[in-house]
Amino acid sequence: MSSPDFASLGISKPVLQAVQELGYEQPSPIQAQSIPILLEGANLLGIAQTGTGKTAAFALPLLSRLDSSQSAPQILVLAPTRELAIQVAEAFQTYARHLKSFHVLPIYGGQDMRGQLRGLQRGVQVIVGTPGRILDHLRRRSLDLSKLRALVLDEADEMLRMGFIDDVETILAETPSTCQRALFSATMPPAIRRVVKKYLGDAREVSIAAKTRTVERISQRYLMVQGRHKLDALTRILEVEEFDGMLIFVRTKSTTVELAEKLEARGFSAAALNGDLSQALRERTVNRLKKGDVDIVVATDVAARGLDVDRISHVVNYDIPYDNESYVHRIGRTGRAGREGCAILFVAPKERHLLRAIEKSTGQQVTSMELPTGEQVSTQRVQQFQEQILRNLDTQDLDRFRELLEGMAHDRELSMSDIAAAMAWQLQQERPLFPKLASIEVASHEKSIGRDKRPDASPRDRSQKRKERPTDKRKQRDEFGEFEMTTYRMEVGKNHGVTPGDIVGAIANEADIESRYIGQIKLYDDHSTVDLPEGMPPELLNHLKNKVRVCQQPMKLSPLGGESGHRPPPSKGKLSLKTKPGGKPRARKPETAQKRSGSRPAKK
Ligand code: AMP
Repeated sequence: MSSPDFASLGISKPVLQAVQELGYEQPSPIQAQSIPILLEGANLLGIAQTGTGKTAAFALPLLSRLDSSQSAPQILVLAPTRELAIQVAEAFQTYARHLKSFHVLPIYGGQDMRGQLRGLQRGVQVIVGTPGRILDHLRRRSLDLSKLRALVLDEADEMLRMGFIDDVETILAETPSTCQRALFSATMPPAIRRVVKKYLGDAREVSIAAKTRTVERISQRYLMVQGRHKLDALTRILEVEEFDGMLIFVRTKSTTVELAEKLEARGFSAAALNGDLSQALRERTVNRLKKGDVDIVVATDVAARGLDVDRISHVVNYDIPYDNESYVHRIGRTGRAGREGCAILFVAPKERHLLRAIEKSTGQQVTSMELPTGEQVSTQRVQQFQEQILRNLDTQDLDRFRELLEGMAHDRELSMSDIAAAMAWQLQQERPLFPKLASIEVASHEKSIGRDKRPDASPRDRSQKRKERPTDKRKQRDEFGEFEMTTYRMEVGKNHGVTPGDIVGAIANEADIESRYIGQIKLYDDHSTVDLPEGMPPELLNHLKNKVRVCQQPMKLSPLGGESGHRPPPSKGKLSLKTKPGGKPRARKPETAQKRSGSRPAKK
């Protein structure tokens, strides 16, 4: 946790300003290690995964070294998927917001070529693209890499897995030998080692060391939830979970304020704690938490460093920490003074690997938790409602009110229960006793994530090793359980010059299917076959059938056994292949309805 600050790392003023405006409080470990090396102009091998802050780790130093007088492309980032290319391009745009006449262009397959050509002609300093399409532009001579000053290979192992490695090498060979090179990869399979050796010979290596520590007396759970649903998920947990004091960790200073305000607006007593607050104000907030004047504090890592408040029964990692060190430090804020503590971690499906790393480094299992249901929320609210009424009966002088209602019942010929029901309805309007909660997509599952799976063995790798079977149905297994694969035929084959990489690229980009869910591919002269998870939504299948082209040919995807082979997805109406093919909802455990005062939303 003894990380330097961004200013002392030496990034340029306009880039530093953008970082400060974004509320990044301190560099993540991969940033602290990579930025000085890239600023020096050296080659870098970064062993890091999504969610560690690796985009800023290369974008900030490379932007700091940008030559504003040169309009030919200076930085090229190769990314395995369209989504990542767009995300990285957006990150560059954000970090470069104070650089004059800066242009970044994402380039990926499936996008109109003319727009890309116009963009390239206008002049861009940074290009972020998928290998196939970048290669297309090089062949057409619409992209000139002769002035390139830096090349980044992002998620290199994923590019390898998607069959892009040859394209990547061809592009690497086209870049000037003086060009600075950086390669980021979560794993280091031999093919990547070979590329590193050949093209990044003198690269300095950085990775985030995973230290082992045990965290006793703290029960650790995680909820797999998409970023956009985190606030709703947190609100439900706050309603149902029995807690005393709670510390919620987020990544940026601005999020501490935003989240605390949102929680306040939803009726919880919450305050922000971040490095922008004066020391006096920080101390006041901590004291309020100690005394129980506030139950929830939303903090950044820096602000909560060393925080020692006995009544913190829960730590929620609203934003997953970048490294295991921070995780251990964060959850160590609970379970103090010999008490039991609870840690809850929010994990987006794409951040699963970070969870796996945390489990490995702490040597403890983080168990999956269920999102509280609307029914559970309702049970809690009804119970609190009853408690409040009983408290009023106990503590308030109600004679005049009793008289009022008895008079009303008599005059209007109403029963007391009718009147009470109408009053109860009135009272619960702001916080309905029987709420209809919005549906939240969570991907919880019985098995701990990835424990039985090698991280770099995709179904495709495995199925390619497997002997061929005569049927067109196969079973695949991932962390969400077992799911069927169906073989599809496409009308593009060897005669059209297609490679497995083209097919994976087209399906991954166009259908948004993660490459690891793309199974065995076989090439024939005039057609090919590919295994895909069964139960693809019809609209997706239609898209692949009618719209997608590979090697200039319409793919015309169809189930090998004919249309009748297609069955609707097994569980939810809409199958998100990115996260849970064939995912089965878990059986729910009944929850207790007990709750301590801290979990009750503050009175408004
Ligand atoms: P990445 O690993 O590049 O996908 O980044 C993960 C997320 O962390 C992105 O949303 C970034 O905006 C955010 N992030 C990166 N660096 C920092 C930092 N130093 N402080 C706070 N958030 C950051």
